[in-house]
Amino acid sequence: MGHSRMSPLWMTYEQAVALIAAANQERPQEACGILVGKNEQVEEVISIRNIAADPAHFYRLDDQAFTQALFQTQNKGQTLLAFYHSHPTSDPIPSQEDIRQITYPDIPYVIVGFRKPEPELAAWQIRPGEVKRMPLHIGFHAPPPPPSFSQAQKTAVLLTALIAFVFLIVLSLSLLPPAPVIVTPLP
Ligand SMILES: [Zn+2]
Repeated sequence: MGHSRMSPLWMTYEQAVALIAAANQERPQEACGILVGKNEQVEEVISIRNIAADPAHFYRLDDQAFTQALFQTQNKGQTLLAFYHSHPTSDPIPSQEDIRQITYPDIPYVIVGFRKPEPELAAWQIRPGEVKRMPLHIGFHAPPPPPSFSQAQKTAVLLTALIAFVFLIVLSLSLLPPAPVIVTPLP
């Protein structure tokens, strides 16, 4: 949980088109599903049956299909990146019901809106009492995740630094002028 900022989502143009096409096919009913992938990059758009009693105005993921999709996702080393659903006649803005029914406050919610002739996609962070639009990059690939050093790499870096330090000391000692010879005057 916590209140960390949600990371942006990245999807290809083809994935966005496929998502919109799938949602368009379900009209006048709402379509729903999940976006899965690695890091912040969507790799697959998985549509899941909408089992809401009134699917023209609400959505509810088929629990069994959702669980199954999550299982397959995990087997492929992917994670659940976002939920998506469509608004067949309205803007891609979370409805009161969308806000009320959220069960995963740390997962972004992507909505496809069909109010305008050009369908719109928007991603949202929905938490109790807090609805924020979040970045959704279409047509780009996510930047590679920052490199994380393994323990062996960390040890190697530390050793290299230590060796360089010791070498510096030896070098500076050898560069010191020779100790003066103290000549004790003869009595
Ligand atoms: Zn909705």
